[in-house]
Amino acid sequence: MTCDRLVCANCAGPVSEGRCPVCRAHRERVHRESPLGGLSPATLFTLVLALLAVAFLAQRVAVA
Ligand SMILES: [Zn+2]
Repeated sequence: MTCDRLVCANCAGPVSEGRCPVCRAHRERVHRESPLGGLSPATLFTLVLALLAVAFLAQRVAVA
């Protein structure tokens, strides 16, 4: 997801140019959310596997 093609409702300019405060606020919000939204399915799958492994190990430690 990029904001290159978005048109600002306030200044009618491209949001990516950041002409007005509304543009800049929207651009910052999009860029701040992008790290999570830009994760690939493979990366998410790896993260889930890692969490499961940690949970499994923690459970074994707790039982033993
Ligand atoms: Zn604007």
